Amino acid sequence: MKVFKFGGASLKNAKGVRNVTAIIQSYKAPLLVVVSAMGKTTNALEQIIQLSFYNKDATAEVNALLRYHHDILKELFPSDHEAFSSVEKIFVELGHALQKDTDFDEYYDEMVAKGELISSVIVHHFLQAQNIPSHWLDARTCIATDDSFREGKVDWGLTSNKIQPLRTILRDQVIITQGFIGQTANAQTTTLGREGSDYSAAIFASTLDAESLTIWKDVPGVMNADPKRLPAAIVFDELPFKEAAEMTYYGASVIHPKTIKPLANKGIPLHVKNFDDPSLKGTVIHECTVDDLPPLIVFKDNQCLISCKVTDYTFISEEQLSLIFHALTQLGLRVNVMQNSAITFSFCLDFRENKVMALIHQLQQHFEVYYNTGLTLITIKNYDEASFDTYRKHKGVLLEQSSRSTLQVLIKP
Ligand code: ASP
Ligand code: MG
Repeated sequence: MKVFKFGGASLKNAKGVRNVTAIIQSYKAPLLVVVSAMGKTTNALEQIIQLSFYNKDATAEVNALLRYHHDILKELFPSDHEAFSSVEKIFVELGHALQKDTDFDEYYDEMVAKGELISSVIVHHFLQAQNIPSHWLDARTCIATDDSFREGKVDWGLTSNKIQPLRTILRDQVIITQGFIGQTANAQTTTLGREGSDYSAAIFASTLDAESLTIWKDVPGVMNADPKRLPAAIVFDELPFKEAAEMTYYGASVIHPKTIKPLANKGIPLHVKNFDDPSLKGTVIHECTVDDLPPLIVFKDNQCLISCKVTDYTFISEEQLSLIFHALTQLGLRVNVMQNSAITFSFCLDFRENKVMALIHQLQQHFEVYYNTGLTLITIKNYDEASFDTYRKHKGVLLEQSSRSTLQVLIKP
């Protein structure tokens, strides 16, 4: 069997749903399909969550989201089709949830999950309307997580047990389910982190020992740089798991960082293909060696550089370093690059404002702290002479670091 994953961009309108259906129809193998919320639905829901949680009126935003989905439904189904009432039911639930009084992260997960539920219901009904035997699955009944809301940690054993019975359904039906969402032991909705649908697809593929996972995207495959920034970027035919995993670590957004590991552990190849033109080869990520990989360039925006300076003529000590890392761990923050000198320890991390400000506040009790926001971290993996020189001479470099294979420069754009 195979697993497919379609992201929000491939399902942003009725044409997208038709296209996804055509792709599903053209594959004969037993298939489990993971879908994300349509278009920018998750961002819209985040706005609704932010407003309603703080008791501000979100009616206009909810209506806009309803209209968006309604327009898609109208293009796909006759007006008396049950798809309308299925989607309406989810919006009614969303309306009820608006009055709930809970912790922000719990509220967020309960609400934001609606985006995936809606899109999967629409795709399921459309497949059925095309006479493709389809089974709608609530992914929450399979993906078991702990109660770390907004970044649920998967209980692999339990999840695998819950997924096994799907094999029977897959014999004669395509399973349509949601990415991104899961459930705690007491049936509360959780999510796996933004853009987590790729990871969901990898969980299904891994626990079902799938032949392969295909992620359908709006790019021709995995490229050595973001073509919007570097138009000369090229598409890889194939990439080793290790290379792809490291790319995502440095911030390449083509695949969610947690996707590779479960697939690599089981040797399940990951195809990245273009949903506008399925005839394109795309990229296969699998166990292989590729000689002479070109430089791989990753831009990571919204970076914050923090420098902790000791002021009493002592030097940065291991004890002080452990203090800094303890604070980072407590706040769940991840360092993207770091550098030490006699009296200053500097590091760069994603600027998640609330958490970073809390960190700075803590560090100020021990150090003189300086920080800079709005920075971009550029990582050049497998650099060559030309790329090494180009990026080191980039305008506005605040910090630079290189190893034998990787150059990183932090710049103020
Ligand atoms: N819809 C979710 C998001 O936009 C999950 C995903 O797209 O992977 O973050
Ligand atoms: Mg998305």
